[in-house]
Amino acid sequence: MINKKMADLGNQPSVIREIFEYSLRRKAEIGAENVYDFSLGNPSIPAPKMVDDTIKELVESGDSVALHGYTSAQGAMPVREQIAANINARFGFPASAKNIYITCGAAASLTSTLKAVVNDGDEVILLAPYFPEYNVFCANAGAKTVVVLGKGDNFSLDFDALDKAINKNTSAIIVNSPNNPTGAIIPESDIIKLASLLNKKSQEFGRAIYIIADEPYRELTYGDDVPYIPTFYNNTVVCYSYSKSLSLPGERIGYVFVSPNCDAAADLFAAVCGAARSMGYVCAPSLMQRVIAKCDGETSDVSLYNKNRELLYNSLTEIGYKAVKPQGAFYLFMKALEDDANAFCEKAKKHELLLVPADSFGAKGYVRISYCVAYDTIKNSIPAFKALFEEYKDR
Ligand code: PLP
Repeated sequence: MINKKMADLGNQPSVIREIFEYSLRRKAEIGAENVYDFSLGNPSIPAPKMVDDTIKELVESGDSVALHGYTSAQGAMPVREQIAANINARFGFPASAKNIYITCGAAASLTSTLKAVVNDGDEVILLAPYFPEYNVFCANAGAKTVVVLGKGDNFSLDFDALDKAINKNTSAIIVNSPNNPTGAIIPESDIIKLASLLNKKSQEFGRAIYIIADEPYRELTYGDDVPYIPTFYNNTVVCYSYSKSLSLPGERIGYVFVSPNCDAAADLFAAVCGAARSMGYVCAPSLMQRVIAKCDGETSDVSLYNKNRELLYNSLTEIGYKAVKPQGAFYLFMKALEDDANAFCEKAKKHELLLVPADSFGAKGYVRISYCVAYDTIKNSIPAFKALFEEYKDR
């Protein structure tokens, strides 16, 4: 018999995907240049030249059997060593290859980590607004999710709410900075406060409470620093991805790094290996493993996203829309012009503006605008944003 839960999940498209599918149909009808599609977080900037050069070099090296062969389940040791060396060099943090598990992007890193730390009856805290797939990943691990909405215009950490939400069943909290969908970076002072709260609660409840640091946007910043969470909190597992930093989302490559300071770090790493194995995430794509060994630390040309960010933020706020300037990633989180963000997005559609209502991100009354698009798409969309704003003025 078919597993109904899985069939339901497979049949249930995400809101983002639905809008993207609509955009394909609409572009076929009226021409791609007339549709302003801000739905997907698909990098619009090519991978650094070094990525393509490395692929060519590897393919031409002649050792094709080794290149395309299995590596060990956790990833090739020289690649894990290189990643650990880079963590040491970049963050002054003592990483070692034995705590690194290479896998298929942040999605596989998160599902493996969640499965490794969740036991029956456990809860995982999501800081809203959050990446909607967290719900699916937590359900897969058997965790109940507890949503804690951020405070103020920038959805900063609400420590009072967190204090109330953490209980004897709390296993982990997912921290995503820079954030999808707000683009906010959690400042060091808040990470320190969070670490202190979690240490207090861990002691009170006699259990480890993990920070799962979801970091696909770490390199996409526009001037602000992103604190390296393992430096501030021992029980941290970093889920890193090259999808956005190297513009390689289709190549499915990233890693889990279990901080050596975690309680029983070796057992936790074994649990990550076991969880990944149970879902078939063994031996991440071999060619890509070798590519990242060479290109870890490189970044796509983020200045192009920054140009988009400046144009979009300045134009929208000049028109009168309300948004906080994103510090990282490539999303702008804007207040809808009515309480019902879905209704607002339907009206935006009439102006060929495809925006994502943020209800599924755990925050009502907002929309997410992905600005990883061509600069001209943003430039040409501004009159449509103006017309949409005018429509609400008349109401
Ligand atoms: N986490 C967040 C916050 C994301 O936005 C995404 C993708 O958009 C992922 C995880 C999954 O990334 P990956 O492509 O590396 O699996």
